[in-house]
Formats: sequence, C-alpha cells, structure tokens
Amino acid sequence: MAIVAIVGRPNVGKSTLFNRLVGKRLAIVDDTPGVTRDRREGEGRIADMKFRVLDTAGFEDAYDDSLEARMRRQTERAIQEADVALLLIDARAGVTPLDEKFAALLRKGNTPVLLLANKCEGKAGQPGLLEAYSLGYGDPIPFSAEHGEGLSELYDALEPFIPDDPKEIGSAEAILPEIDIDLTDEDAEVEAPEAGTPERPLQLAIVGRPNVGKSTLINRYLGEDRLLTGPEAGITRDSIAVDWEWKGKRVRLIDTAGLRKRARVSEKVEKLSAADTRRAVDFAEVVVLLLDAQELLEKQDLTIARQVIDEGRALIIAANKWDAVEDKQETLTKLRERLQISLTQLKGVPVVTLSAKEGRNLDKLLSEAFRIHKLWNKRISTAKLNGWLQGMVAAHAPPLSKGRRIKLRYVTQAKTRPPTFALFASQAESLPESYIRYLVNGLREDFGLEGVPLRLHVRQGK
Ligand code: GDP
Ligand code: GDP
Repeated sequence: MAIVAIVGRPNVGKSTLFNRLVGKRLAIVDDTPGVTRDRREGEGRIADMKFRVLDTAGFEDAYDDSLEARMRRQTERAIQEADVALLLIDARAGVTPLDEKFAALLRKGNTPVLLLANKCEGKAGQPGLLEAYSLGYGDPIPFSAEHGEGLSELYDALEPFIPDDPKEIGSAEAILPEIDIDLTDEDAEVEAPEAGTPERPLQLAIVGRPNVGKSTLINRYLGEDRLLTGPEAGITRDSIAVDWEWKGKRVRLIDTAGLRKRARVSEKVEKLSAADTRRAVDFAEVVVLLLDAQELLEKQDLTIARQVIDEGRALIIAANKWDAVEDKQETLTKLRERLQISLTQLKGVPVVTLSAKEGRNLDKLLSEAFRIHKLWNKRISTAKLNGWLQGMVAAHAPPLSKGRRIKLRYVTQAKTRPPTFALFASQAESLPESYIRYLVNGLREDFGLEGVPLRLHVRQGK
C-alpha cells in the first residue's frame, strides 16, 4: 500500500488532517523506543482510494534536542519511507520562515511533494494561498482539514502516486501514469490531461430534488452502457463511484447511498439526501443539476446550484421530462430568464433539455459535461493575460482612490479547476467590486470561459 507522509511545522493542522484521513479506524501508535515513538500511522482513505498515512505531528513535545533538529530528523525519516509527502502550511498565517525550512528540507529528498494550504475555509486563507506559490511546489491545494474541504482536489493530486489496490479491482496491474510535476514554466500553457481516459475519468454527479428523474437517468446510462467497474470496488463510508464508458471515454459517476443500494439489490436508486448531495458535489468535477421541466426552478434547486458554484465545480442545468412539456419554447425562455436573475454569479451556465424516460438528449448532456470540464481545466498563459489586462485598463481605467489612480500591475492564473486568477494592484483594498466584476466578465468573455465558475483574487502588488 502506498505511504503518504504528513509534514509541516507545528500547528498547521497535521493531526487534524491525519484524523480526517484515518477517521475512526484504529490509529496505530508505534512506540518502538527511540525509533518512531512520536509518530502515528494509520490507514487513510479518500473515497475509494486507500493508503497508509504517517503523521509527524507531536514530536515537538519531546524534550531532548532542539526543536529544529528533531523536526528535521522526524521529517527526513517519514519522507524516506513515503511515496508522497503532503506539506501543510497554515494559509491563515501565511508562509513563515519555518515553512520555508520545511520546503527546503523536502527539496533535498526524492519524494514527490504536494503542497496543502490548510485552514482555507472562508476567505481568511486567500492571501496565504497565493503566498504558498513562493515555496516552489506549484499549485497549492486549498484545503480545510477541519471542514473536510478540498478532499476531491487532494484525491486528484494523490491519484498518480497511489496504485489501485490489486485485491480490490481484481487485476494485478497498478496504474501509475507518468506525471509532470514541473509547474514552474507557467507560460507554457499547460493543459491538464484530458478527462475521459481510464487514468482520469470525468467525475460526474447527478443531483436534484426527489422525483425529478435521477434514478431513471442513471439507470439509462448504466443500463445501456457496459458497466466497467462494479460499485463494490468503490464502496466507502461516504461515497461510491461507478465507472462506465461513453463513446470510448471513461466517466465516473459519483453517487452515495443510492448506488450502494443499487449494488446490493437492483431496485430503484435511493433518493439523495442533502448530505449526500454535498458529498457528491465534493467529489465531482462536473455536477448535473437535474430539474423537472414541468416545475419551476425552486428555491431548493437554486440552493444546490449555488453550492456547486461556491465549491468551484462546473455546473450543468438539465431540464428533464422535456417530453411532457407543452410549450417548449416558452418553458426554455422562462428557465433561462430565471437562471439569469437568480444565478448572477455564473453567466452562461449550460442548459440541456432531455427526457430520461424516452432516452432523448442523453448524449448531449454528456458531451456538454466534457465540454465544460475542459473549460474548467483551462490554463491561460501569463503573457496572454497581461496583454488582455492592458486592453481592459485602456478601455476602462480603474478609478482613483485617495486622489491616486489604482494601478493594476500584473495578472496570472494561480490554478485551474476552477480557473483562478491572481491580480496584483496598488491600493488593492480600494479596487471596487464593480471593477472586479468588469474584469471577471471580461475574462469570461475574452477567453471563452462561459458557464464555468471563475475566481479572481486581488492582492496588494509592490
Ligand atoms: P499540528 O500541530 O500540525 O498537528 O496541528 P493540529 O492538527 O493540532 O491543529 C492546530 C490547530 O489548528 C488546532 O487548533 C486545529 O483545530 C486547527 N486547525 C486544523 N485544521 C484547521 C482548518 O482546516 N481550519 C481551521 N480554521 N483550523 C484548523
Ligand atoms: P428521482 O427521485 O429523482 O430518482 O426520480 P425518478 O427517476 O424516480 O423519477 C420520478 C418519476 O418521474 C418517475 O415516475 C419517472 O417515471 C418519471 N420520469 C423520469 N424521467 C422522466 C422523463 O424524462 N419524462 C417523464 N414524462 N417522466 C419521467
């Protein structure tokens, strides 16, 4: 089983992360004197992914030696054994000199490092998230160990390092794709590997209120296509996934209780509860919000839609039972109007009309899912972005603040999934919301990012 080490200075949240990954499963405290006294090990899991976790927290309580020397030894030992290390920082505190020491220490070893900006829930972590780039480990993963946010990003990031458990999938072949972890050349316009391959299925969730037709739709997809992986392989406490293939592309349907039940007895897929919806959104890349086209877009639908956008997932609105709609044109117009008014934070969200019962537009829905997923993954070069910024400023200059013009110095794409941009400005705090909206709308239109949640962080630039 692959070994994942959790490292970082005291208080960044290592134990909290350990507990989150290992959960209630027995944490083995290995207390062989003098060897591993002060570290914990346990079996960690995220969804269907399993690994051993080494936690280096706690060693700071030892009383011999200097803190730094102990820390170094402990960390060196852990990363020697590990297949991959998770370097945690506290995004609320920003990057400290001690974090830098850890980063430098890890650079000496050969163990791949994933950088986690912990305590990122809410907005307080944003500045630290951007600072984390200075550690030289590429895109930091925004994370909250306490709230369990960022697990699906962590899952994706870990995936290349964690071989599938042969016992579980009944195949002795471990899939270990080569990955390029050199993210320093940000102008290279690196496109993330396209989804739909066996190594990288498109992670899709279908959510919606009871009775909108989720089971009918899921059964259509799974019934007509060959089921590649039985649900049993993915059963965990929290979620479950079924892989299937659509036009030669791999799709992983993320579901929860519903599919588990389907695995046992081939009866109707269970209704998704609100908590199930949250988990599905957590693990999915693209979320299909299924509506009953005969009913108006309800408050509950909008709540789910906002949740998807807030989590930065790609959203598709699918109006089901289109066969039963009398005035199709009018219904569609109304739906679009309603979306425009109620989902102002996301312009151009894709709308697909379909009939699960009659099997209409099912392909259309999936091709939209792949299309939007690609945009969600899109990376734009810094050169292009700054050329664009000049144009935006020339067309409409930022306002004055305290008698001086706010200067926009530099923009770069900090991460993908969803596209997230960092803008450096003089008097950053004073840049009005309306101007930020102008820029976000510009990004959306000029780079063809309609329908994808976008993030723009404004920072004080030198
Ligand atoms: P360790 O010393 O690195 O093992 O850190 P701990 O796991 O003991 O966490 C240190 C402190 O940070 C504790 O008070 C945790 O409750 C808190 N903490 C951990 N993770 C998070 C998080 O995601 N968000 C916030 N706000 N606090 C966290
Ligand atoms: P769920 O609760 O979201 O899983 O919804 P179901 O799949 O159980 O569907 C609820 C009801 O809507 C069932 O009676 C289905 O037959 C019906 N239904 C599902 N899809 C369609 C459709 O495309 N057209 C029509 N007319 N009825 C549908």
